[in-house]
Amino acid sequence: MIEKVLIANRGEIALRVLRACRELGIATVAVHSTADANAMHVRLADESVCIGPPPAAKSYLNIPAIVSACEITGADAVHPGYGFLSENARFADILAEHDITFIGPSGDHIRTMGDKIEAKLTAKRLGIPVVPGSEGAVPSVAEARRLAAEMGYPVLIKASAGGGGRGMKLATNESGIETAFNTARSEAQAAFGDDAVYIEKYLGKPRHIEIQVLGDGQGHAIHLGERDCSLQRRHQKVWEEAPSPALNADQRMNIGSTVAKAIADMGYSGAGTVEFLYEDGEFFFIEMNTRLQVEHPVTEMITGIDLVQQQIRVASGLPLNIAQDDIKISGHAIECRINAEHPKTFTPSPGRVEAVHFPGGLGVRVDSAIYAGYTIPPYYDSLIGKLIVSGVSRTECLMRLRRALGEFVIEGVETTIPLFQTLIGEPNIIDGTYDIHWLESFLAED
Ligand code: ADP
Repeated sequence: MIEKVLIANRGEIALRVLRACRELGIATVAVHSTADANAMHVRLADESVCIGPPPAAKSYLNIPAIVSACEITGADAVHPGYGFLSENARFADILAEHDITFIGPSGDHIRTMGDKIEAKLTAKRLGIPVVPGSEGAVPSVAEARRLAAEMGYPVLIKASAGGGGRGMKLATNESGIETAFNTARSEAQAAFGDDAVYIEKYLGKPRHIEIQVLGDGQGHAIHLGERDCSLQRRHQKVWEEAPSPALNADQRMNIGSTVAKAIADMGYSGAGTVEFLYEDGEFFFIEMNTRLQVEHPVTEMITGIDLVQQQIRVASGLPLNIAQDDIKISGHAIECRINAEHPKTFTPSPGRVEAVHFPGGLGVRVDSAIYAGYTIPPYYDSLIGKLIVSGVSRTECLMRLRRALGEFVIEGVETTIPLFQTLIGEPNIIDGTYDIHWLESFLAED
């Protein structure tokens, strides 16, 4: 079993991992940049090591500094959290070469799923339904035009190395294809140093539904149901819930077992998320994330399973100790991502937090690393906390969310809490009838 985990991350997720380790009796090492010397994860860890100056490239992404920190402290494993090095196959390989356990899948699985063309081909081979489109990279505008005519407009040109919505361009008709192809290509080259692009049918009103999986790399894999993450702004998730208001139990079991079987066949080890667009009763694979997701708590709240502890168990080489039949989905959970941003303009609002009061009571969970007197540095992501509420039904959950948002106090910086207070009164949110474009249109009207 792993004895000491170095947490290669910061903020709420560093704290989340620390909590899981502590409950398992595992020692923790925090790493931090000079800007985070007073951060909560540093204060709460058993040990801490400063790994560089504020810019992430010199600290949280600094592989030699992190490996040295493991060696100095004797950490035998690294949990990467999400973002930063969590989907960096080279990092996983380097740790393996140093006999340090990477709490995540193998470098090869990260590599395959990180290349979207490769990921889509793999998914298809394993029996997962994919969005209609090219089989692999599209080499020329002429080929893109031919394929688009075959599947019908609109189409999306997407970067194989893409992420965060970059390198993705829409063509609504034949005259737009050349520009879409060329801009997707040059954006992909500039952002990722890889200009491979592929083409996909554009779905008009899909929901984003993702399946949480756990595999032990020993032939066993299970799914823990879905999360609906359709409420997005600029391809960033804002609100996530589980179960999806759009699925029934049969649909859940069908897609869940297809995915779990594929994961077992791959020999995948660790937690992962298979993301789909869902439209008119059909699922279409878009990508797989080979790490813990920001929104994992909603799954924990409806299954009672600690996903981080499961990641640690599996990384220690233990087989899964839960079978598919042990997974009982109960009630409903919603997560709101609270960012230090202006609630209307979304301009980042770093600075000193003057006062904080977290909501509490039955079914309310706050994952956050801020405290009164803490200064939010301007260098990193603006997520400062997640409010997760659960209840026996979606209606109870919504009422509880309204109540919890009303109790939440963060003074000194702007936050997105008022946005959620507005959303909670919207008929489409109350009925659960929204797709991936709903939030953008709603914000544009405002
Ligand atoms: P990234 O890794 O850049 O986030 P994804 O492939 O996950 O790229 O797509 C991000 C978002 O773009 C999806 O959540 C969805 O909102 C939209 N999208 C992607 N593919 C399609 C498609 N074929 N049709 C419509 N929207 C899409």
